[in-house]
Amino acid sequence: MKTTKFLLSEKEIPTAWYNILADLPFQLEPYLHPATKEPIGPADLAPLFAMELIKQEVSTERWIEIPDEVREIYNLYRPGVLFRAHRLEKALDTPAKIYYKYEGGNATGSHKPNTAIAQAYYNKQEGIMRLTTETGAGQWGSALSMACSFFGMECVVYMVRVSYDQKPYRRSLMQVYGATVFASPSTNTQTGLKILEVSPDSSGSLGIAISEAVEDAAKREDTHYSLGSVLNHVLLHQTVIGLEAKKQMEMAGDYPDIVIACCGGGSNLAGLSFPFIQDKLAGKDMRVLAVEPKACPTLTEGEYRYDFGDTAGLTPLTKMYTLGHDFIPAGIHAGGLRYHGDSAIVSALYDKGIIEAVAYHQTEVFDAALQFARTEGIIPAPESSHAIRSAIDEALKAKEAGEEKVILFGLSGNGYFDMTAYDSYLKEGLKDYNFTLACNDGE
Ligand SMILES: *Cc1c(COP(=O)(O)O)cnc(C)c1O
Repeated sequence: MKTTKFLLSEKEIPTAWYNILADLPFQLEPYLHPATKEPIGPADLAPLFAMELIKQEVSTERWIEIPDEVREIYNLYRPGVLFRAHRLEKALDTPAKIYYKYEGGNATGSHKPNTAIAQAYYNKQEGIMRLTTETGAGQWGSALSMACSFFGMECVVYMVRVSYDQKPYRRSLMQVYGATVFASPSTNTQTGLKILEVSPDSSGSLGIAISEAVEDAAKREDTHYSLGSVLNHVLLHQTVIGLEAKKQMEMAGDYPDIVIACCGGGSNLAGLSFPFIQDKLAGKDMRVLAVEPKACPTLTEGEYRYDFGDTAGLTPLTKMYTLGHDFIPAGIHAGGLRYHGDSAIVSALYDKGIIEAVAYHQTEVFDAALQFARTEGIIPAPESSHAIRSAIDEALKAKEAGEEKVILFGLSGNGYFDMTAYDSYLKEGLKDYNFTLACNDGE
């Protein structure tokens, strides 16, 4: 019998996160203060983040120990499964071996709890009882709501309007975990009020929702802000994915020629690929591919420069690939990939040519999602389906070239809360948006 699932025991859940900052062959540009444009220090971040997380943000220690309390909660759903996609390979008639690391096997259905649990833990340790955040597709809001409920903390979520309307059950899920959810732009903040004045029907964006969550947190002593991607400490927490995957690929007796992941802010890409990039930086020949939507092509069509992380300009300036902090992408179904910027580390790796990027339209992405569901069974999240599209294309290229490539992709989440998206695709097909068209639409 061929092995399909590569399984680790609870004892094999990593005991430390991998910090790529220890191994980068270049220096990251500092975050700058939004007003003074000077490099920021820990004191500037202290009103919004736990001190331990601020330390992790700039640490250059290679391994950062995972607290026991966090590992105990990881035990609820980790280790994640590494699958060999035998049935997809057969359908594609490819000599390539396709593996995927599944992060949808927990209650909220994506990789996001890996950092949500850690962030809630460190904030609780420092006496914070309330966290605010934004959510696009809803996976991050769900993950943080669950994490806060585990630690008896309050959670307030600003949910991008388009997702709030498309995914009512994501909101219910957050409410089941005890969170308070506002559609963003909301009337709850100055930022929201200003935007609603100009565009009362605004579909919202992650940039706007971040501004609202930051504004809310800055107003209260007992409240911190929590971000689900982009920041160095978030990427750090996600490396449990790649550390497990590395052990599992070893069990399978293979090493990936190419690691593929979708890229919104960069956290699942980082989580899966950074432990492999550690080998690449040490000389190993392998590729890493970030996959993004053509409607929000941050790496493939953005500029590498300093920009704000949010729409209102409340966050520090970050040197990153960006489409402009006021860019509002078209309402594609992969809500988690509708972010104008990217992580500083991922951006720098792309700028230095260490990772590559490719962009797809949502119709071709959903074609791949269906082919995957009909062969492997799991209904993938629209975000993750970008990685599937790319993995299928790479497997078909390998077939043409007659090469036995080893492909590893990240299945960052399942799509069981995205059935309205599948419904539209099956009933009437989806609209594809080009980056420039989306801008002109002014959506
Ligand atoms: C949030 C999300 C993404 C995109 O965010 P990254 O930070 O780029 O990982 C991708 N897939 C799923 C399932 C998500 O929930």
